[in-house]
Amino acid sequence: MEESKKKPNAISRMPAGFMGLSKPVMIGIAVACIVLALGITIIRSTGGNGGIEGLERGTMMMVKCANPTCGVIYDIDEVDYFLFLEEYEDEMDEDEDVAPAMECKECGKRSIYRAIKCKNEKCGEIFFANSVPESYEDTCPKCGFSEIEDLRRRAP
Ligand SMILES: [Zn+2]
Ligand SMILES: [Zn+2]
Repeated sequence: MEESKKKPNAISRMPAGFMGLSKPVMIGIAVACIVLALGITIIRSTGGNGGIEGLERGTMMMVKCANPTCGVIYDIDEVDYFLFLEEYEDEMDEDEDVAPAMECKECGKRSIYRAIKCKNEKCGEIFFANSVPESYEDTCPKCGFSEIEDLRRRAP
């Protein structure tokens, strides 16, 4: 008779334990689904099928001139940057891991690189991407803040 008492207990305990675990697991799955959906959306909107030609114009990115006598900062369309990168690919040394420079519309030198504005409200420094070695691409050389790092730290 003892066994018949134990069995219902074991069964009733299992769903209780499962329910306790399932909530964070379900949230995790939901978050993963959202991230996945966003990823697919981004891939599609950046022309997963159509390549660069399928890209939509309108997303601006900041660039800065590395020529010390110029130093101009302006926005370009991301599509133009991608088109430039694609064009540059042919003449780029495969072993070379340096980001290509675009021609500056102010000084005419090939010294335009992607720039990032520091997301630290107290700082706001504008700097080149990957300014800080062995760090994140958006790590600020002035205050050390990185939005990527900050977001990763906040993530559960
Ligand atoms: Zn310039
Ligand atoms: Zn900063």
